[in-house]
Amino acid sequence: MILKKTISFIVPVYFEEAVISRFILEMREALAKIEINYEFVFVDDGSTDKTCEIIKEEAKSDVKIKLIELSYNHGKQSAVTAGINYAVGDYLLYMDPDLQDPPEEIHRFITEIEKGFDLVFGVRREKKDNFINRHFSKLFWGVLRKFTGLQLPKNLAVMRIFNRKFANKFIEYKEQNRFIEGVFMHIGMKQSVLEINQRERYAGQSKFNFRKKMELAFNAIFDFSELPLKLAVRLGLIFILIGIITLLTIIGLKLFLVDFQSGWPSIIGALIIATGIQLFFIGIAALYIGKVYKEAKGRPLFSVKETTNIQ
Ligand code: UDP
Ligand code: MG
Repeated sequence: MILKKTISFIVPVYFEEAVISRFILEMREALAKIEINYEFVFVDDGSTDKTCEIIKEEAKSDVKIKLIELSYNHGKQSAVTAGINYAVGDYLLYMDPDLQDPPEEIHRFITEIEKGFDLVFGVRREKKDNFINRHFSKLFWGVLRKFTGLQLPKNLAVMRIFNRKFANKFIEYKEQNRFIEGVFMHIGMKQSVLEINQRERYAGQSKFNFRKKMELAFNAIFDFSELPLKLAVRLGLIFILIGIITLLTIIGLKLFLVDFQSGWPSIIGALIIATGIQLFFIGIAALYIGKVYKEAKGRPLFSVKETTNIQ
């Protein structure tokens, strides 16, 4: 394969001293078989182990190895964004250094995007992960799909490639809390998926514990859905309804002279109505706040896929 284009590998690293040398080695091996210009854009997300030292040592003899060091741990989403901002390639391929998505798949990504796509997502045939993680992942993406309405591909892998046009669009997104997969779907354009084989993490440990995954899920939901706000409005309405039914029932029972201890049921009925009204109006206020939030993010209003005869 010969290609007169440059590909930037965006690689976030956070305490990856155990895998980074191996990663560079395997990448070089895989890339030797593809004739293409490339650069590595490593983004260190505030590691305090030997990760940066190892990368810098490699960079001494190889100008294709670039490193951006964030001043403290910003989280993977920001690290990847920094990498995309610094990359100069025609194609940008984003991957983790743990070799779960293996370098030997890279040439297939290039072949696929050369067909004229703007973004190619890797999806895994089977996830090489333990039972709990695997099912948790499934649940995570399932809930996201439901809440956000984003048509994310199933069994998403980490490895994905996109072109310069797509990267420039991504850079226009200035929001602070970002959920990258969501932004990718929001950009749209011509997308494709590629099935890849996965390996186990080469060494070291996953940095995404349950708490971090939950954080990401909430970020994604708040970023791409107003459902939680609408929930308050709906719940408020349901409460009002229940309260009214309770009061009507009490009045009915009294009218037909059914004897029961009076007093507290009517108080409860009134209480439910009052709670419902409050929840309802808090929900309405929240919907306005949601709109302000959306405006504040300043997302581009539209994403053009292609133009004809326009310079
Ligand atoms: N990572 C990061 N900042 C963080 C946590 C993780 O840049 O705060 C990087 C990490 O170095 C790795 C990638 O994000 O390259 C994915 O992390 P990991 O492999 O631990 O997650 P998993 O594949 O288990 O979801
Ligand atoms: Mg991993």
